Amino acid sequence: MTNSIYDIVIIGGGASGLMLAAQCDLNGKKGLILEGGSSPGSKLLMSGGGRCNITHGGPVKDFVYAYGNEGQTLRRCLYRHNNLELARWLIGHGIELADENGDPVDASYGPDGIDSAGRVFPASGKARDVLETFLEEASWNGWQIETGAKVSGLRKDDSWKITLINGYELYSRNVVAASGGITYPETGSDGSMLEILEDLGIDINEPRPALAPVCVENYPYAELSGVSIPDVTATAYSSDAACTCKGKAARMKGDLLFTHEGLSGPVILNISKYVEPGELIRLCYNKELHELPRRMQRILRERSRGLLGDVRTNVLAAFLQQDDFIVSGVDERGMVTAGGVSLDEIDMKTMRIKKHEGLYVIGEAIDADGITGGYNLQLCWSTAAAAADDLNDVI
Ligand SMILES: Cc1cc2nc3c(=O)[nH]c(=O)nc-3n(C[C@H](O)[C@H](O)[C@H](O)COP(=O)(O)OP(=O)(O)OC[C@H]3O[C@@H](n4cnc5c(N)ncnc54)[C@H](O)[C@@H]3O)c2cc1C
Repeated sequence: MTNSIYDIVIIGGGASGLMLAAQCDLNGKKGLILEGGSSPGSKLLMSGGGRCNITHGGPVKDFVYAYGNEGQTLRRCLYRHNNLELARWLIGHGIELADENGDPVDASYGPDGIDSAGRVFPASGKARDVLETFLEEASWNGWQIETGAKVSGLRKDDSWKITLINGYELYSRNVVAASGGITYPETGSDGSMLEILEDLGIDINEPRPALAPVCVENYPYAELSGVSIPDVTATAYSSDAACTCKGKAARMKGDLLFTHEGLSGPVILNISKYVEPGELIRLCYNKELHELPRRMQRILRERSRGLLGDVRTNVLAAFLQQDDFIVSGVDERGMVTAGGVSLDEIDMKTMRIKKHEGLYVIGEAIDADGITGGYNLQLCWSTAAAAADDLNDVI
């Protein structure tokens, strides 16, 4: 770090900050990444269980729906910097890609998206390969990284004054908040930057865990821990509607996983941001009783015990369509954060904060999050690429 003014400082050396640095050639200008943790990319290394589900195949028009209500606002950014752009960049930098079955992913198809359905991974199955590629390219572009450099304050004078937790102060013409959300705080994403941004008068929608397992009252399936049921429909009902089941908040379909403590698997992770304690999740197994695992059949029979004849049969049939649970808690360890910097504050073409010149925000720090399947790292890429385009022009 030096005392002279930087042209760009990126706060956060996670996926989005590194993706930005990898796409922004400083051309002799001064750029610095401030990473609060002891090493960059901690969460990226965890992604996809260490395999890094970097994006999702298919046409980009299908992507918009993966981000719920925010999808339409993100549309432009996702279209301009889509999965095909990310795949081509990675392949161009020596990272071959594969689908879930290990078959190669072809990025020559276009312009609508990757010609492959489902999750996309580096063919090596190693998140570290992706991290190292971003780091190498960032270094090639002239970026320096300072680790153990946690930002505690940000103020606009003639340029941006950045204060570190150890009291050190530095200045930059442009600042990019790439500081993630609030979940997995041990990776450094502890929400501290969101508070700093809020102090600058920026509207922050309350951050909360998403893509999280859910605990329910009177959970009957603890002994099925580890059992997965494919193609289950989960419907979330808001608290107002929990008694009447008239107002549904969201509906998702996918695999359900029973854990020791509660419900998980993609269908639950994807619906978790729509429920709070006291609200209702209705599971529809989309199967006949005999198609479910034997142990589950037994539990369902036990739950309908005490009822006689037709009533019992009807209750069993009803469980298959409507197995209702009151939510007792959403796990704090969501894989992403819902909430963050309000999209109203951001120019989605450039990722500039509209009310503060020279301030940008990208990645999980913005109030947008995707379902499981590579959509969150794609969002990091799309927002980072948008900011890189603008910064490449500005500096
Ligand atoms: C277990 C797990 C598995 C996942 N798997 C996938 C997957 O396979 N595919 C997918 O698409 N998504 C996945 N995700 C989500 C994805 O990893 C995140 O959406 C993505 O890493 C967010 O990137 P980011 O750069 O915005 O934030 P982060 O990766 O959280 O990076 C933010 C960085 O900013 C730093 N920072 C924060 N505050 C400060 C501060 N005040 N000063 C300095 N530095 C600061 C942090 O230390 C951190 O390094 C997974 C997440 C988890 C937890």
